[in-house]
Amino acid sequence: MRERDHAILTDGFPKGCILCHRGAKLVLFVTGRCTEKCWYCPISLERAGKDVVYANERPVRNDRDIIKEAKEMNALGAGITGGEPLLVVDRVCRYIELLKSTFGKRFHIHLYTYGKLATEENVEKLEQAGLDEIRFHVFEHFEWLEPALKTNMDVGIEIPVIPGDWKRLKRVVDFCAEKDIFLNLNELEFSDSNWKRMKRHGMKHDEYTNAVTGSKKLALKVLRYAEKRGVKAHFCSVFVKHGVQLTRRLKRRANVIKKPWEKVNRYGLIVKGVIDGHKEIAKKEGLYYNRKKKRIETDVETARKIAKKYSVKAWKVLEWPVYEPWDFEKSPIG
Ligand code: SF4
Repeated sequence: MRERDHAILTDGFPKGCILCHRGAKLVLFVTGRCTEKCWYCPISLERAGKDVVYANERPVRNDRDIIKEAKEMNALGAGITGGEPLLVVDRVCRYIELLKSTFGKRFHIHLYTYGKLATEENVEKLEQAGLDEIRFHVFEHFEWLEPALKTNMDVGIEIPVIPGDWKRLKRVVDFCAEKDIFLNLNELEFSDSNWKRMKRHGMKHDEYTNAVTGSKKLALKVLRYAEKRGVKAHFCSVFVKHGVQLTRRLKRRANVIKKPWEKVNRYGLIVKGVIDGHKEIAKKEGLYYNRKKKRIETDVETARKIAKKYSVKAWKVLEWPVYEPWDFEKSPIG
């Protein structure tokens, strides 16, 4: 068992995780509908139960939105998620074909499913569309994997680690060993939407993060067992998900969308100088005026100089570089 680039694993990463770890995977959320009601489900209230599509944080109205978002983050692959993606399997196949025909066969695509709907007919459709990897959210019902195991796609199990769940997890490892498939263990975490349900099930969180206390400890025990059984297993912590993968994804997007005068800091946030309002100054000085946010946007030094020249207030802004960018931090500079 070893640590690699903040992740803990028994062997190499599954293919789908390599690009994800580099922040190079587009997160394609294809529906908020699901066949299940897992008490720990982290999906936001905005998406849960609704038949909505998002490419990263961008709402998708048509296929062009998906391609645009993939280009804006310089994506090298995609992870298809939900909800239960197989409730809209034809939509999923269309998106896979769209992405593969636009970015080429090497654009790696993996998909998450609860598994109940991974019938022979559905997995055949997915394979024909070009899906590279399929991950099942199963603790039992291993028979659901049988149709996928007959295909040429990479197959694995990806599940959250619930404290106290050792017996079920051990059986999952045994199944992975028997079928020679990979196992991804996710650190269980609190989200805005599952908070009450998690508390009701006796979950507690660590002092400074949303991670469930005891989830990592059990995951490491499972990894040790997986290593003994020769299973390729990997633990994806809350820190890796939010601190590594997300930061890297933001950085990729920021570097594509930033204006020439903006900078990207080490956390992937865009750094700029801002003066609220004052359209007339922007016009006079030939500066960019953001009409949506009603403010002058330029580099920090120029904002400082302009503020001094016209006796107005200027700010240094750190912007979160998502589809609808928002100010993460705004501090006065003069
Ligand atoms: S299968 Fe996934 S999306 Fe569906 S309820 Fe469970 S955690 Fe949520």
